[in-house]
Amino acid sequence: MTKETMNAIPDIIIAIDGYSATGKSTLAKLIASDFGFTYLDSGAMYRAVTLFAMESGYVKGGEIDAQALRKALETDGLDIRFGAENHTFIGERCIEKEIRSMEVSSYVSPVAALAFVRAFVDEKLHAWGRQGRVVMDGRDIGTAVFPDAQLKLFVTASDQVRAQRRYDELVSKGQPSPMEEVMKNLKERDYIDSHRETNPLRQAKDAFVLDNSDMNLHEELVWVKGLVMGRFQIFESI
Ligand code: C5P
Repeated sequence: MTKETMNAIPDIIIAIDGYSATGKSTLAKLIASDFGFTYLDSGAMYRAVTLFAMESGYVKGGEIDAQALRKALETDGLDIRFGAENHTFIGERCIEKEIRSMEVSSYVSPVAALAFVRAFVDEKLHAWGRQGRVVMDGRDIGTAVFPDAQLKLFVTASDQVRAQRRYDELVSKGQPSPMEEVMKNLKERDYIDSHRETNPLRQAKDAFVLDNSDMNLHEELVWVKGLVMGRFQIFESI
């Protein structure tokens, strides 16, 4: 995209929601770099809180000590930051690898279902996103975090495609897991994410649905660009 076209795009928020491993974050990063926007990965925030809970001993034998976690977040907060290449940090410590592990994946949805955890994360997302020119991906961005986002996408893909993508991602990061386990985790997270009480995963009424099962990233980007250009009447010079 040319600089002129980038500048013609207003200071909007693009909200991308959808089930696990639909490639939301890969698409969001690509849009952000093409549009000159900032990318914010809300799932990484929930993963960071989960890692913190696990390392602090608040997750024992599959049970979460919600009271202790709440007290820790309220008393000391948690300094979650994004650094180079969108890597996630707690303070100065890069936690990118740890938060993508299967262990964190297996606890993140119950942790993210806790209302005080959602309030803690939402406050940060609001502060970072309110100036616009942001692409944010997650489960409730278009429905709860930024219900007035000017462009909302809801991304879907078949179970098989999603599991394969997550499996390949884990292998490429040197953290392979059996395919059955990957599939089970995706289904469990989808269930918890769409059945929790606070801000469950839902398709916003005004979201555009993107089924990317048979699309490559370039096709997805072209599709999104078409939506943005059409919505804001931007004409790209060739
Ligand atoms: O996007 P990602 O798969 O990394 O998100 C990890 C988990 O964080 C999700 O399964 C969900 O439980 C939680 N999450 C959420 N709301 C968001 C983003 C993520 O509940 N906006």
